[in-house]
Amino acid sequence: MHGGETWQGALKGAFRDPVELCRHLALPESFAQAAIRASQGFPVFASREYVARMRPGDPTDPLLRQVLPIDAELDTISGFATDPVGDNNARLLPGLLQKYDRRALMIVTGACAIHCRYCFRRHYPYEELPRSPAAWQGAIDRLAQDPSIDEVILSGGDPLTVVDSQLAQLADQLAAIPHLRRLRVHTRLPIVIPQRVTSQLLQWLRGTRLTPYVVVHANHAQEIDAEVAAALTRLREAGITLLNQTVLLRGVNDSVEALVNLSLRLVDLGVLPYYLHQLDRVAGAAHFEVPISRGRELVQSLRDRLPGYAVPRYVIEQAGEAAKSVLS
Ligand code: SF4
Repeated sequence: MHGGETWQGALKGAFRDPVELCRHLALPESFAQAAIRASQGFPVFASREYVARMRPGDPTDPLLRQVLPIDAELDTISGFATDPVGDNNARLLPGLLQKYDRRALMIVTGACAIHCRYCFRRHYPYEELPRSPAAWQGAIDRLAQDPSIDEVILSGGDPLTVVDSQLAQLADQLAAIPHLRRLRVHTRLPIVIPQRVTSQLLQWLRGTRLTPYVVVHANHAQEIDAEVAAALTRLREAGITLLNQTVLLRGVNDSVEALVNLSLRLVDLGVLPYYLHQLDRVAGAAHFEVPISRGRELVQSLRDRLPGYAVPRYVIEQAGEAAKSVLS
């Protein structure tokens, strides 16, 4: 049951067992068996709130496809690697990455509120990460020493799986570094467990000296139900600039209709569609890949149908490049 539950309760109550998930959605046992085979090393994890937005009995549901492992994950496909975006090379120290000028990325936790099967971090060495606020100190000291950095991105995993008291403290420590100007939070939690947008969260985001940006991650309009819409509205009413990033995924959102509906749903809620990512070529996710030529056609169709601000930039991240490359 969701609604009155806390976000921590929602995390605890999430589906972790493929058999239970498939039964709940009235899917044949064969789907659960495939999921058990394919989930080794990256288990199933999906909140009840998220699963409630799926169509029961439909194995092609665009939300289900993002979380239910299938046999194709076990295929070895050349060109699909465990560190496709070069995170290992961008590491300044454990938990702190710098890929681009001005911005540094702090991986405050390895935990997520959902396991997206296409995730480029599914093979990330999270066990090396700092796990407690005390262990973030190294990253904070490093940021304080580098005046060329003016923006910190809290990432993960999902930074909002960390409790607000710790995040508020981190935000204070970052705000005390004079050359930092902006704080960006990359999170899928408002989409997956909308009750994560608590008054405490709004309080520290609104209260920091740094200019806050929240970048959510939705891939399909069906992900944004009334509760998610209310959570996004709470963030916006607190004065937070909201952006969305989407991954272009075969069988999920690789149609003009799906992408138009997603963009319209977002802009109606005051969330700017920021990026449409070409899939990172991570081992186990090849079946989600959409050819770049098809992606370009889709974005062109969006341009024909939507106002410019509702058309995301179609980008690809390549290891070692100074910026994401714009494909369209
Ligand atoms: S929420 Fe983001 S980091 Fe976590 S599994 Fe999904 S895509 Fe990966």
